[in-house]
Amino acid sequence: MLHLDNSGDLHRWSRAALGRGQTIAFVPTMGYLHEGHRSLMRIARERADQVVVSIFVNPLQFAAGEDLDTYPRDPEADLHICESEGVDLVFMPGDLYPSDFSTTVVVEGLTNGLCGATREGHFDGVATVVLKLFNLVRPTMAVFGQKDFQQLQVVRRMVRDLDLDIQIVGGPIVRDSDGVALSSRNAYLSSEERAQAAILNKSLIAADAQVRAGERDPEVLVEAVRQAVQAAPLARVDYVELVDAGSLEPVTGRLDRPALLALAVRFGQTRLIDNRVLGEEQLQA
Ligand code: AMP
Repeated sequence: MLHLDNSGDLHRWSRAALGRGQTIAFVPTMGYLHEGHRSLMRIARERADQVVVSIFVNPLQFAAGEDLDTYPRDPEADLHICESEGVDLVFMPGDLYPSDFSTTVVVEGLTNGLCGATREGHFDGVATVVLKLFNLVRPTMAVFGQKDFQQLQVVRRMVRDLDLDIQIVGGPIVRDSDGVALSSRNAYLSSEERAQAAILNKSLIAADAQVRAGERDPEVLVEAVRQAVQAAPLARVDYVELVDAGSLEPVTGRLDRPALLALAVRFGQTRLIDNRVLGEEQLQA
């Protein structure tokens, strides 16, 4: 496995791989890798000749006061994980931005709601770094987790709007045995918070069961999840929303096609997100 920290070297490597007619699958991450990241690497490994993983805690996607400085890091363990998943190249740059960096990629509309409503500039930072990494890696395809559903849709929209010749693949959410979605940020949780975090997925499953039983009122579904989450003493709801899975606009009126139930909940300083598509089997897309 190659380990590069320099953009010039990566450019040369990708030019050579593409020159040999090889396909490249890319998995961008912020490191502190877990089974969720591994699942994306496996999807990439199955689909391309070369697998590239980037590990970069991107300052542009953290607002002032967020956890940029404390974001968990373990580069040694990350390299072992990549090696064990058969990754060909790990790109771990120290920095990606010159001091006079002055370009921002803004994907409008999709970024107004959900996490975009409270995380000022977050998706601009995501779109900017992803486009930059795409230009360095020059992947045939890139794999993103559905856990960050809004991010996945933002990337898809950017790729479509800017005619990037990259296939975007979404990987399913990987969960712990108690249903908690794996996240590098779970490392921040106390044992009490970690135990209570199980209510997120439980409440999404309960909403799914309500839809299966015939409930079609978005307000009833959202309110039930909000109540269930708020019953956990340490949980503070940031949002619970039922949105169209394509436009991410809130569902109004009766639920008549599959929709995304998405939530963000704080436990102390830690903000967790989760989501589930409802009505996939019961309703026509
Ligand atoms: P991060 O390192 O948190 O920026 O995540 C890197 C990639 O891994 C993103 O595409 C995430 O959506 C994805 N990811 C993070 N957690 C999970 C999970 N539990 N299941 C599937 N994908 C995940």
